[in-house]
Amino acid sequence: MKKFNSLKEIRTLIDQKKTSLPDLLEYYFNQISAKQQLNAFNEVFFASARAQAVEVQKKLDLGTAGKLAGMVIGIKDNICYTNHRVSASSKMLDGFVSPYSATVVQRLLSEDAVIIGRLNCDEFAMGGSNETSYFGPVKNALDEERVSGGSSGGSAVAVQADFCLAALGTDTGGSVRQPAAFCGCIGMKPTYGRISRYGVIAYASSFDQVGTITSSISDAALLLEVLAGADEHDSTVSKEVVPVYSALADSGKKYKIAVLKETLESEVLDPEIKIAILAAIEKLKVQGHTVDYVSFDLLAYLVPTYYVLTTAEASSNLSRYDGVHFGYRNTEATNLNSLYKLSRSEGFGEEVKRRILLGTFVLSAGYYDAYYQKAQKVRRLISEKTTALLQEYDILLSPVAPTPPFKIGENTADPLVMYMADIYTVLASLSGIPAIAIPLGNNTEGLPLSLQMMTGSFKEEVLFSLSDTFLN
Ligand code: GLN
Repeated sequence: MKKFNSLKEIRTLIDQKKTSLPDLLEYYFNQISAKQQLNAFNEVFFASARAQAVEVQKKLDLGTAGKLAGMVIGIKDNICYTNHRVSASSKMLDGFVSPYSATVVQRLLSEDAVIIGRLNCDEFAMGGSNETSYFGPVKNALDEERVSGGSSGGSAVAVQADFCLAALGTDTGGSVRQPAAFCGCIGMKPTYGRISRYGVIAYASSFDQVGTITSSISDAALLLEVLAGADEHDSTVSKEVVPVYSALADSGKKYKIAVLKETLESEVLDPEIKIAILAAIEKLKVQGHTVDYVSFDLLAYLVPTYYVLTTAEASSNLSRYDGVHFGYRNTEATNLNSLYKLSRSEGFGEEVKRRILLGTFVLSAGYYDAYYQKAQKVRRLISEKTTALLQEYDILLSPVAPTPPFKIGENTADPLVMYMADIYTVLASLSGIPAIAIPLGNNTEGLPLSLQMMTGSFKEEVLFSLSDTFLN
């Protein structure tokens, strides 16, 4: 079989009886076992996926199948699925079986998607290279010495290497967009509150959002249509009507685009990425869009604000892993205090511990005002500035990552280097707006390049429409 890039292609073949869903699933299983060294999956759900494929094929034959019938999808290993293990790629949750399904999983299943397995990621989604996973790094399929990006690295490589058609990731500060960019895929982070977080293992709750990694805009639009919308289990989900995104793609509209000037002038930006983005800007102009360069003078504040706030939220969210309620427990502790200390010291990896310590510090008496509260204020300024720009422009444009995928181990010695690489993605996360990463071909070394487009809250259809015309 050849690599399918959209559900439409698959459905045509299934409808013409040239293939069947069970056959397609076996093809993906073979692909996975042929390239196991990429380490994309923490577990393949052989039995449940096979049973689902048979059931959905019956519905396809009867003409009663749902919108996602024919789609084989992987889920990041921080999304709960009833009676399946979920680990957040941490020793802390190794062996834990989820007693319930996330809303996103229920919605996938109710539209007849087949869930093929759980995908490797940075531990508790903290990282930008998939190197903090307890189960080891995920390798980029284009160059196995290089990182997949992160934290949804397994999700990106699964789509890149044709292990499944699409994957769910989560994006707190870029974790869907950056690995998608590193693997030449499309990464979509919707508006904060567009998709339910119920059943998604929390990292920083005022930022976390489920997103998709796909090879086509049509699949990203269709998935958002299925996943978005109110949920009684998560009060932060918007009740805003969910548009039929799949019908809106390629509306051919002309947009007003603002290029964030400082993002292209930044010293950290790789020259080939800059050249590719300048060429993309020319293409957008030729397609009839208006492009202006605008100043965004808060760029230097984005990464510090993001890390103060997300570590604070993480330190609170991760306090539940105490060795008592669930997950890893030290067996030699002699009293409650030592049980907490030993279980948490042994169960969490270095990066997660660093963030819990940082977060506890910025929330502690005496430092709360200077760090946490100040960062909240800066977040509001950033968000106001972004909203003001989006009153005038439909789209804000910037790179996704400052460099192409780097070598495994290259950036692990200095956490600040790794944090600074989030400079372009955290803006949308701090402001809660939707953003998409789309491929721009490869550089001279054959490594993927990518472009980021952001728009106003709950205007995801603008991203789909513009990217679709841009890519075609
Ligand atoms: N790299 C960022 C971080 O480590 C983003 C992670 C994410 O979006 N989950 O926080």
